Amino acid sequence: MKRIAILGATGSIGTQALEVAAAHDDLQVVALAAGSDVDGLVAAARATDAEVLALADPAAAERAAAELGRPVLSGPNALVELIDASGPDVVLNAVVGAAGLEASLATLERGYDLALANKESLVAGGDLVLAAARAGGGRILPVDSEHSALQQCLGDTPREQLTSLVITASGGPFRGRTRAGLAEITVEQALAHPTWAMGAKITVDSATLMNKGLEVIEAHMLFDLPYSQIEVVVHPQSIVHGMARLRDGALIAHLGHPDMRVPISYALTYPRREAVPARPLEWSEAFSLDFQPPDLETFGCLRLAIEAGEAGGTAPAVLNAANEIAVAAFLAGAIGFLAIEELVADALDHVAVQPLDSLAAVVAADAAARARVEVRIGEGAA
Ligand code: NAD
Ligand code: MG
Repeated sequence: MKRIAILGATGSIGTQALEVAAAHDDLQVVALAAGSDVDGLVAAARATDAEVLALADPAAAERAAAELGRPVLSGPNALVELIDASGPDVVLNAVVGAAGLEASLATLERGYDLALANKESLVAGGDLVLAAARAGGGRILPVDSEHSALQQCLGDTPREQLTSLVITASGGPFRGRTRAGLAEITVEQALAHPTWAMGAKITVDSATLMNKGLEVIEAHMLFDLPYSQIEVVVHPQSIVHGMARLRDGALIAHLGHPDMRVPISYALTYPRREAVPARPLEWSEAFSLDFQPPDLETFGCLRLAIEAGEAGGTAPAVLNAANEIAVAAFLAGAIGFLAIEELVADALDHVAVQPLDSLAAVVAADAAARARVEVRIGEGAA
């Protein structure tokens, strides 16, 4: 029996993880956490035997506790308290944003496995997350579909035989547009992703291609590869999830219809593989796979992310935090689509990069970037 804590249990990844866990007797959900979604948490608590519950928002936690007639943890340390109180084997971190960082660190420091959907923790916390894994002995099992695929393509290939890793990108809803064609994008258009149904923040990140930039940094951290050995290719069908290019010219690919239950299941049941009711690729109907280079001029967020990754230190934390605020402002209708990229670039220009030597350094960089973007939005910069 594997004991699983699900952080971000009411979201897109969290609810799919609950579905995966419900289908397997040897996966036991022991803890559930979310931000402020009372109804979602109450429903998840009733559908599982979870012993420990948390909602980050104290008022929401109070309402959920009243409804369930049992305690619900809350407040800034709720996620770490929930991990300690439940003692899981695996923590699935499916919180959105840098808010997930401390839980990732705590999981790995305590030697628990971390099924990581929350790529922002690895982007902002980078080396700290890796150090926590080394110190505590917890393993990082990527849930992001590309990184799950890459890990499987790599297998135990000796590092010197690997030439590069290739991350595929659908290109999002605005693939093929010019920069001028992005100016009038509405929130509704940005939320209409062609191949994946996901939470709002990552859907906007997919439209700007920031998501792919965050994933390049994530791959750099997970697989300990220089940026020069991480490639991005646009692949509109989202059927090839990742590839490993080997020195003899072979390209090993991982394929399947886009379905997050596949990488979620792989991470939760690792090293075993369990059945997932995903739609198989069928050969009775012809289909084709297209590939094209990414347009780094139109989708500058991808370029900014790679630059921040190469700059290192707290630069990726600044990039991530600035993006979180800018995306929230775009979703609230306060700024236009292209302003997301402008605000992230501005934050990277104005927040000094520091060494990434402590959680305090990440927290300070994150706060400075958020403040900078908020001031610029307040000034009507966008
Ligand atoms: P979502 O918005 O659907 O869900 C986010 C979850 O996090 C919700 O349960 C919310 O209540 C919770 N949450 C928010 N703030 C919190 C806080 N401060 N403390 C505790 N919980 C909090 O997002 P999602 O699409 O499920 O994405 C979650 C993470 O997984 C993101 O990092 C995203 O980049 C990553 N991811 C998602 C997908 C996907 O298909 N949705 C694919 C790959 C990676
Ligand atoms: Mg992905």
